[in-house]
Amino acid sequence: MNFLQRLQEMLQRFAIKLQQFMVGRYGTDEFTIFLLIASLIFTFLGNFRPIRFFYFIGVAIIWYSLFRTLSKNYEKRRKELNWYLRWSEKPKAELKLCVNKIRDRKSHRYFKCEECKTVLRVPKGRGKIEITCPKCRAKIIKKT
Ligand SMILES: [Zn+2]
Repeated sequence: MNFLQRLQEMLQRFAIKLQQFMVGRYGTDEFTIFLLIASLIFTFLGNFRPIRFFYFIGVAIIWYSLFRTLSKNYEKRRKELNWYLRWSEKPKAELKLCVNKIRDRKSHRYFKCEECKTVLRVPKGRGKIEITCPKCRAKIIKKT
């Protein structure tokens, strides 16, 4: 057996062991990914002297996400996930709107309905038009 075959076999054995180890454990979810990204940001910011303590926050977040991944308490972890999903709903929607605005900056304009706050997307270059909100039927006049 050459070196590569041996290495491959070792990795396979390790993968099986890892699988056995993870049986009954929670694993990763969307919240874990968020935590890992946050920990990367914190540890990176910790490079700067006045906010060195950010590094330790980052490390603490990594430990917490590892703890969650290996946890056998499904119920609690799922509660955390639900809490995270609820908490992140608005920022995620706002981020998506921001990305869309940049993507469509040449072809469309975005307005918010003054009544129900629904976001309206209108083609650019139509001059002054009356827009009817599809949700609440309120009318707004805007320049596109
Ligand atoms: Zn509306």
